[in-house]
Amino acid sequence: MKFLANIFTTESFDDNLFYNIVDDESKLIDGIPTLIIGKANAKRICPCGFRMFGDNWEQDLIKLECCGEMYWTYGKREERDRNETAIVKFKKIVLEKLLNSVNYQFFNVLTSDKEQKIELNNILTDSSKKFVLISDDMLYIFFPDRMETVGVSLRDIEYGGTDRKKILRTLYSNASVTMTKERDFMSYETREMLRKKKYVIPYLSSLSA
Ligand SMILES: [Zn+2]
Repeated sequence: MKFLANIFTTESFDDNLFYNIVDDESKLIDGIPTLIIGKANAKRICPCGFRMFGDNWEQDLIKLECCGEMYWTYGKREERDRNETAIVKFKKIVLEKLLNSVNYQFFNVLTSDKEQKIELNNILTDSSKKFVLISDDMLYIFFPDRMETVGVSLRDIEYGGTDRKKILRTLYSNASVTMTKERDFMSYETREMLRKKKYVIPYLSSLSA
C-alpha cells in the first residue's frame, strides 16, 4: 500500500484508503503532503510556523512552508466549518499532485497506421504489469513502470471493425493485467473530483494492490 498524503489527527477521518492517518509524529511518511488537524498539534509539530505567522489565522487551510509540504487546520471541535473546508481543499491539492504525476496519452485507433496498430496489440498482450479500467466506452491502461496511462476508445475500435469483446478477451487472458473498478475503493468525493480524469483511477488501484 502506498499513500498519497499524511493526515495527523486525533479525530476520526473518513476516506482513509490513500491517506496515512496517524496520531504519532514518528509515523509521518517523508516526501508526501501532510495535513495536521488541531491547533495544538500544529503548534507542537511546527513551532517555527507559529512564530512566523503568529496566532491570527484567517484561512481554512494554512501552509507551513518552513516544514516542507505541510498544512494545518483547526479540529472539528475547534472550528468545524474551517475544518471541513480545509479537508476538501487539502484533498484537492493531493489529487492535483496525483493528476500531474501520471502521463496520459490518448491512442487514436481511427487515425493509427499499421505500425501503431501492432503497437496497440503489443500493449494489450505483452507481459509488462498494467492496471486497466473500463469506463464510458474507454479503456484506460496504466503502466506503473513509466507512470503512464494509455486511453483507447472501445467505440473507435468497433468502428474500425474489431469486436470489443475480442479486445476484452485478450485483456482478461493476459496475466499481467489487473482489471480495476471505480467504485471498489473510492469515496464519493474522490470519484466526483476525478470524474473527468479517469486515467488516474487505474493508478490509484495500483497503490492498493
Ligand atoms: Zn515548521
